[in-house]
Amino acid sequence: MHQQRHGPRAEYRQEEGQRVKDSATLGDAFQKLKRLTVNLEYSDPAGIAKSKQVKYEVNLANAKSVFRFNCLNDECIRGDFDLSNELAKAVCERRNSVSGEVVCQGWRSRTTIDSVHCHNILRYTLSLGY
Ligand SMILES: [Zn+2]
Repeated sequence: MHQQRHGPRAEYRQEEGQRVKDSATLGDAFQKLKRLTVNLEYSDPAGIAKSKQVKYEVNLANAKSVFRFNCLNDECIRGDFDLSNELAKAVCERRNSVSGEVVCQGWRSRTTIDSVHCHNILRYTLSLGY
């Protein structure tokens, strides 16, 4: 085991990375699903400043069913956005489109652990084809 990068942020990202790696691909987990496009809009906790918007088609053969996206706050500790449950529910209900908003539950920085939450926002739209 390489444990050269210490600190709660590196440790958390490493654990989460492993969790993603160990999960099934989307293609294996959801065999009915033929197409998935994500539209992501990141913003600050106030929801005003849009920091980034991305839209892309997910490669179902490679992407993993632990379906998470990193928080854009470079200092964020134990946060990020996990849409695994939202995606599973959408597929289960055969929805063609789901949208929502998730709030990062991490800490704003390592100096504010246990005091100030990150609370960055990710608005998402998942477009699904079967
Ligand atoms: Zn965060």
